[in-house]
Amino acid sequence: MKKGKLIGFAAMVAAAAAVIAFSGSFHTRLNKSEKEKNVQEAVAEVEPEKEKQADIVIIGAGGAGMTAAVEAVQKGATNLVVLEKMPITGGNTVRATGGLNAAETPYQAAEGIEDSIELFVEDTMKGGKNLNDPELVQVMAEQSGEAVAWVNEIGGDLSVVGQFGGASVKRIHRPSDTSAVGPMLVKALNAKLKELEVPVFLETEAVHILLDEKGAVQGVQAVTKGGEPYTISCKAVILATGGFGANSEMVVRYKKELDGFFTTNHLGATGDGIAMMEELKAGFADMDQIQTHPTVNPDTTTMYTEGVRGNGAILVNQTGHRFVNELETRDIVSEAILNQEGGTCFIVFDQSVRESLSAIESYIEKGIITQGNTPEELAEAIGVDKDQLKKTLEQYAVFQSEGIDAEFGRESMEVPMNKPPYYAGLCAPAVHHTMGGVKIDTDSQVLKEDGSKIPGLFAAGEVVGGVHGANRLGGNAVTDIVVFGRLAGSRAYDYVMEDGGFTEATMNLAQEEEAVEPEVKGNYKDGTYTGTGKGNNGDITVEVLVESGSVTAVNLTDHAETPGIYEAAEKAVIASVIKTQTVSVDGVSGATRTSDGIKEAIAAALEKAK
Ligand SMILES: Cc1cc2nc3c(=O)[nH]c(=O)nc-3n(C[C@H](O)[C@H](O)[C@H](O)COP(=O)(O)OP(=O)(O)OC[C@H]3O[C@@H](n4cnc5c(N)ncnc54)[C@H](O)[C@@H]3O)c2cc1C
Repeated sequence: MKKGKLIGFAAMVAAAAAVIAFSGSFHTRLNKSEKEKNVQEAVAEVEPEKEKQADIVIIGAGGAGMTAAVEAVQKGATNLVVLEKMPITGGNTVRATGGLNAAETPYQAAEGIEDSIELFVEDTMKGGKNLNDPELVQVMAEQSGEAVAWVNEIGGDLSVVGQFGGASVKRIHRPSDTSAVGPMLVKALNAKLKELEVPVFLETEAVHILLDEKGAVQGVQAVTKGGEPYTISCKAVILATGGFGANSEMVVRYKKELDGFFTTNHLGATGDGIAMMEELKAGFADMDQIQTHPTVNPDTTTMYTEGVRGNGAILVNQTGHRFVNELETRDIVSEAILNQEGGTCFIVFDQSVRESLSAIESYIEKGIITQGNTPEELAEAIGVDKDQLKKTLEQYAVFQSEGIDAEFGRESMEVPMNKPPYYAGLCAPAVHHTMGGVKIDTDSQVLKEDGSKIPGLFAAGEVVGGVHGANRLGGNAVTDIVVFGRLAGSRAYDYVMEDGGFTEATMNLAQEEEAVEPEVKGNYKDGTYTGTGKGNNGDITVEVLVESGSVTAVNLTDHAETPGIYEAAEKAVIASVIKTQTVSVDGVSGATRTSDGIKEAIAAALEKAK
């Protein structure tokens, strides 16, 4: 596969230009009907030289799409491209916090946890109210252990096992530093794609999948980041566009009771894949099955991962009472919260829970957690009856020590919740996961309404329906995207091999790149300078190269920013600084603190170059 430079300066800019545009506002992008019109007009006019070619086109650079790409290339695919409509990779995957469910792993064995594929299948079917496709569930459970090993092999870290709602045993696998699973996975996948030199075209939105006269895949129509439509002819497509949780119109179309609900999803979860599949008359499963996550902060839409409850937290209502087994499945807990006064509740935990999960630090940093040195102090701060909250916590400590929750039958009570200080966060349910989607078989092959296959079309991840039935268990989506992402990549590879094999790569990032040149002359002393600024997660250090008086390159040499987010800021800010020779440039929306940190670091370096 040809090299597509992902990071070098001159190399970054195609994406950068798009990211800079994005930094204004995502809403300035074309709406669906405008895009449709442009695509139709431009496709009619498409010139032959604008036609591009690849053997496999993967639509969506979230967890499923990137996994499929890595798997296919590891098997030997040579001409594969990934299209991603957002300015960064990661989709909803980068938001995943809790972990990945897997059974019969060495990490479970090391802790003496007795689990089995059968029990995993049983829990998943029970959680999904038996609406799930049992064959897909079986595949997911059987390949879950391999999924953990694969993630670890590509540079990830899933080595700690925890408890999550709906699981009979500890089954959710997480990074050893208790950090969130999504950023870890996206970072590992991004690095692997870079190593394998897979071109990922950012801000490139697929709008139609084209079939030939026999009904087999023959291409994808896409719109580039510059708004230019083009066609990529190809033999196979892997649809990995994720769910539609951020498309409130589509959510309400399938489940009107969710009108007015907010969402935990990223902006790009708009169900484009569903629309493309409707055009092709694909089959669909469980479209009305939309999951709300019970514990989401209504002000910031930040989700308190289930791990907080798994590690010990309880839920109390506005009167300070518990009202549900906190580890019940999401649908049950969501409904119980909606039945409380105001449709909200508080997630309450103590210092020992805080110490057990690093994700909690990000909630504290966001200012969505209230703290009290005693239960009474906490109750006063959140406006709950003091005596009742104290009583609830004391009662819970007794249940915990006796191992029996006499009120709600909660089985896993990790800690007595009596180590001060105490913490609480307001929460309410929000649209979280769309279980419904396109129908696939156990080879990730897309099926039509009549059950026949669409040759060359594969799908994986949240765009697929049937795996999770009526309710997804926490930790099962990440298993789903790795297992079916790998399957889709592998089967698409086989399909291309049966259809004449792979061709040499013709699309690569270098073709799309423009050099970043200073547009004005700088006034600095030539040399290489370092500087440090404060980013979102700590210090960012840069190295700035000044040639003939102008900044020509900036390298981030050290930082701890969130993968999948910092890349966008890095590309956009650096390109703008080189063009304008000043640090007074726009940051990237959604990565403001990282952008500011990079600018501060460059400014510090340039102080030395004056
Ligand atoms: C806050 C949050 C926390 C979660 N925590 C967990 C957890 O701990 N464990 C768990 O198992 N699950 C979790 N989930 C669910 C899980 O993260 C998702 O279901 C899963 O990551 C979806 O992966 P995906 O690859 O299918 O989609 P995504 O990761 O969303 O990727 C789809 C990609 O396709 C792109 N795209 C869409 N349309 C187009 C188009 N037309 N052209 C080009 N690109 C397109 C999108 O921009 C996106 O980048 C969580 C979800 C959220 C929102």
